[in-house]
Amino acid sequence: MTLSDWLIYAEDILEKAECYDSRLDAKLLAAGVLKKSPGEIRFLGNCALKDETLDILNQYLSRRAAGEPLQYIENTAYFMDFAFFVDENVLIPRQDTETLVELALEKIKGIKNPEVLDMCTGSGAIALSLAHYRKDARVTASDISEDALNVAKKNAFLTGAKTEFVLSDLFNALAGRKFDLITVNPPYLTKEDMKSLQKEVKREPALALYGGEDGLDIYRRIAREIYRFLSPGGYALLEVGQGQAKDVLALLSNENTSESGIEKDLCGIDRVVWIRSL
Ligand code: GLN
Repeated sequence: MTLSDWLIYAEDILEKAECYDSRLDAKLLAAGVLKKSPGEIRFLGNCALKDETLDILNQYLSRRAAGEPLQYIENTAYFMDFAFFVDENVLIPRQDTETLVELALEKIKGIKNPEVLDMCTGSGAIALSLAHYRKDARVTASDISEDALNVAKKNAFLTGAKTEFVLSDLFNALAGRKFDLITVNPPYLTKEDMKSLQKEVKREPALALYGGEDGLDIYRRIAREIYRFLSPGGYALLEVGQGQAKDVLALLSNENTSESGIEKDLCGIDRVVWIRSL
């Protein structure tokens, strides 16, 4: 079988399994297995596939057809400038979240040697990107899940970005610390959202997705404590779900707030809520 034959076969299987972009997924699966870029795959159509390669391609294909995200199958998710290791212990980093990283970098531009905390770090994508772009920062990454932290540590090793890891339920293990920047992409899906998840999202850890009945439970807990952990003039940036920005901004705004705002993602959806401490 040639690669072209396999691509046609794979696209058909994925189409029948209702994968939203079957042609692209077939190509990306092949690219991952053959260790080529998706662009290079186009020129390899006439290559005859070895039996071992075909076996792996077909294994990956049936996992993808069963609804497993491509990123878990290939243990890779692209975010900012990195290919991060991901598995079923962590949320797959979304492109929307790059907005949060970019805004965070902008906010702390004028702060030398910033102390940074990334809570609910998951794969570490936010923390490690910040550490990479701000080599003078001291970055701490925390998560409630030890399995997630192990993934983040692996990514620290792969990217070479320097970060300290703390097992912590939000601020619980961070008493007495102060930060110039706190970033969080907490679980924020509602009870209703959880009932109608895409089959790929169902494979992601519920712990990283579910934010209680109205999706705002974790923001409420964060709002109660956050100003104690911010240095004077420090910033907090939180990712929010569609339609949550105003409520989250209201939860975080109080007599300690000096400035605040809402930032849209690339699709024009209010995605990041930020506040600055007095
Ligand atoms: N952005 C994810 C989704 O829409 C949710 C991530 C989260 O809850 N932080 O599926």
